[in-house]
Amino acid sequence: MAHYEFFKVVQNYLEQAAKVVDLPPHVAAILSQPKNEIIVHFPVRMDDNTVKLFTGYRIQHNNILGPYKGGIRYHQSVNLDDVKALASMMTWKCSLMDIPFGGGKGGVQVDPRAHSKDELMRITRRFTHALGGNIGPEYDIPAPDVGTTAQMMVWMMDTFMNRMGDSEKNAQRGVVTGKTLASGGSQGREQATGQGAVVCVREWAKENSFDLKGATAIIQGYGNVGTFASKFLVDLGVKVIAVGDHTGYITKEGGLDVPRLFDYSRSKGSIAGFEDAKVITREQFFQTKADIFIPAAMENTVGAQEAQWLDVKMISEGANGPTNPEAEPILAKKGITIVPDILANAGGVTVSYFEWIQNKRSEFWELEEVEARLEKRMVRQYRKVMAYAKNKGVSPRIAAYSLALVNLKTAYDERGIFP
Ligand code: NAD
Repeated sequence: MAHYEFFKVVQNYLEQAAKVVDLPPHVAAILSQPKNEIIVHFPVRMDDNTVKLFTGYRIQHNNILGPYKGGIRYHQSVNLDDVKALASMMTWKCSLMDIPFGGGKGGVQVDPRAHSKDELMRITRRFTHALGGNIGPEYDIPAPDVGTTAQMMVWMMDTFMNRMGDSEKNAQRGVVTGKTLASGGSQGREQATGQGAVVCVREWAKENSFDLKGATAIIQGYGNVGTFASKFLVDLGVKVIAVGDHTGYITKEGGLDVPRLFDYSRSKGSIAGFEDAKVITREQFFQTKADIFIPAAMENTVGAQEAQWLDVKMISEGANGPTNPEAEPILAKKGITIVPDILANAGGVTVSYFEWIQNKRSEFWELEEVEARLEKRMVRQYRKVMAYAKNKGVSPRIAAYSLALVNLKTAYDERGIFP
């Protein structure tokens, strides 16, 4: 796989979209860099009593539309460049979805699988402590991403709350989203990203008069996004015929037993050893003929080679940045529609926004209400992006970036530059 500086890749999309919307150069310059780059080094006691030093990041890209918003990633590969890219993508995503948040992202360079639950708790609490007042419910609101869970969000919230005086504690619930239900989370948040990616599949099918009953799908990455995407696809009558995660790839011709695989991977932490399927190589996975491909693992997993292998009709990008710039023209030439990440995986931040509103108002919405609101927004923005792409003769990705820029451009036009 060719190496890409992820932040440069995203900046390049921004530059293309800036031309489409005639973005003033000073706004383009502001958006080309994050406002704040926070790097912290913090010590944590391990179970064997040794002390390890960890490096954590929080990048605050832009907050003209509202508080910084974006996930926290725990992965051994976390680095400044990737977190900058992901933070800027949150600015575009929130703007595109008409959500009054800016863009942020954070992470810790750590393999969460190599630590006990207690160590993960101490890492999370100490990272939150190190971030201190750089986060807050009206300022910067983290959420789960790769390698982080609802439990970790609860630890973050609890640690942050304990910085405050007793009378202020409960007002801090909205400092993170993606929490467990008992600690102030929202119904439907865990499933939201996978659900949103599948709403895009369904809208694409409608648009192209394509019958999803009996259609086939392959999914790369079987964590939060991949598992829920598989469930929602099955609900539409789609057969999921191959999936993969960090341990390898499996297939079943007539369709995998998704409810069983879902429970299996959740209890074991991966798909490895699932009996009712055949193990295949990564190459065979990408060569599997199917109608739909949902990348739901990490960035830069689909390069030129994978694009040549892929034999699908559409891609709904559950992951952030899965398709690299070499792959995109190859896929376009093959007539494969790509629903871009900042639209396809925006279900997560949309329901995070709903969670934040519920926390602010001390409300608790029913699942049906959350789902209906998510559905409405995803469909509306999907149609907007596709119509704009057609109208301007650009790819859905550049259309999505352009629409995001229109909102930001208007805000900068109206507010001007201080002082
Ligand atoms: P997760 O940690 O729950 O799952 C990640 C999955 O990817 C795991 O199954 C892991 O085994 C797999 N994986 C990792 N490296 C891989 C590799 N090299 N090859 C194949 N599989 C690999 O994370 P998640 O929350 O599901 O996030 C997945 C993607 O979706 C990320 O790009 C993330 O930024 C994006 N995303 C997540 C959310 C959310 O709400 N969780 C929202 C928007 C976007």
